Amino acid sequence: MGKKRQPKASELFAEGKLKFSQPSDKTFEEVYPTIEDVTVVVVERGDKIFSGSVQSRTHNYGKNSLGEFINCCSNPDCYGGGYSIGLTLDNMVYEKETHREFSAPCGCAERTPTGRIRRSCTHRFRITVDIEYKKSADQEKEK
Ligand SMILES: [Zn+2]
Repeated sequence: MGKKRQPKASELFAEGKLKFSQPSDKTFEEVYPTIEDVTVVVVERGDKIFSGSVQSRTHNYGKNSLGEFINCCSNPDCYGGGYSIGLTLDNMVYEKETHREFSAPCGCAERTPTGRIRRSCTHRFRITVDIEYKKSADQEKEK
C-alpha cells in the first residue's frame, strides 16, 4: 500500500488534465445565474474508507463549497476519482428540476504509487441534489 494519495478529479481538472463543460475560474454564480441555493448530499460507499471494510461516509456541499466534481475522497488509491456534478446541475437547470436522487459509480481506476492501474475503483456515490431557483428567473421562464 503506497502512502502517496492519487490526485482526485477536481485536482486534475484544475491542472487542465481533464476537459469539462465549465471553466474552473468561474464562480458558481456566474455558471448558474438562475440558482439561488443548492444543497448536495453525497454518501460515498466503498471498501477503502475505513481499513478495508465496506462503510460509508457522507459529504455535504453548498453553493460555496461545490465544484465541478465530487471527489472520490476516501479511496487514497483512486486516480482522478470523482463524479462530475456539474453535468447533473446543467441538466437539472435545463429541466428546471428542484430535486434529484441517484447513484453513480466512481468509475475511475485505482493505481499503484508508480502509476500502474490496479483495478477499477469500487466506490459508489449516492447523490441527492436540491436546487432552489431565483424567483425572477422562474417568472421570466414562465412567460
Ligand atoms: Zn474512486
